[in-house]
Amino acid sequence: MRVDVVSIFPDYLSVLDLSLVGKARQRGLLDLRVHDLRDWTTDRHRTVDDTPFGGGAGMVMRPDVWGLAIDEVLDGAAGAHLIVPTPSGEVFTQRHAESLASADQLVFACGRYEGIDARVAEHYRDAGVTVHELSIGDYVLNGGEVASLVMIEAVARLIPGMVGNPDSLVEESHGAAGLLEYPVYTKPPSWADLEIPEVLLSGHHAKIERWRRDRALERTAQRRPDMIAALPVASLDKHDLALLAELGWVPDPGDDGKLTRA
Ligand code: SAM
Repeated sequence: MRVDVVSIFPDYLSVLDLSLVGKARQRGLLDLRVHDLRDWTTDRHRTVDDTPFGGGAGMVMRPDVWGLAIDEVLDGAAGAHLIVPTPSGEVFTQRHAESLASADQLVFACGRYEGIDARVAEHYRDAGVTVHELSIGDYVLNGGEVASLVMIEAVARLIPGMVGNPDSLVEESHGAAGLLEYPVYTKPPSWADLEIPEVLLSGHHAKIERWRRDRALERTAQRRPDMIAALPVASLDKHDLALLAELGWVPDPGDDGKLTRA
């Protein structure tokens, strides 16, 4: 996969040399290129922003500079996606990460100031590029660099060959089960007067599986009731339904195939 990141602070992206993403770059799994937006400016001051039409505080990034940068960086591949991080975007989830992991090219346009002139996203959409305006959460950062790092890491770890043991991706939070992951433990078995749950030492595979699923259901009900409400009842077995009833969730009598609070 090719990933291009355009920013006025390219050094901000230097962490992409580290850890799994850095190794994937070295191994050629990821062709990751970071660009300085100012390389596409045409004036002496290398200006990338201007005052907002209609007035108001702050500065807006100029579409002409962004257009030159994106035109050059897009490699013309049909599978190219332009990602514009913005707090006013759709919230980025594991589903986005999964779908972006099969793209040929991802181009991240990192905004600063009050963001990028809205015509940039509109223009590339009109030109047939798949454009995603995505937020990493309901808060405002100073720039799109950190948001791009978050999305690149979430996508890159799904590329085949990236994570040493692909099984570790299967049961994760926000995976196909629609649950948060169960609590995990390692050695020593006793630490700070805390013991690990006995069942995990039992070697009894089915009991361990059941215990983990119960903990995942409990944790999700406690921390993310929105995820419990989204679970299809058809994906739950009798034991799941009994536990969820104890936790205050029952199949919706309106029979929409989902759960509701008892
Ligand atoms: N005026 C904008 C608004 O209220 O929607 C906020 C602009 S913010 C100060 C500057 C840049 O930071 C944005 O263009 C975007 O690239 C990035 N950014 C800030 N918060 C973000 C978030 N939650 N998710 C993704 N990108 C974000």
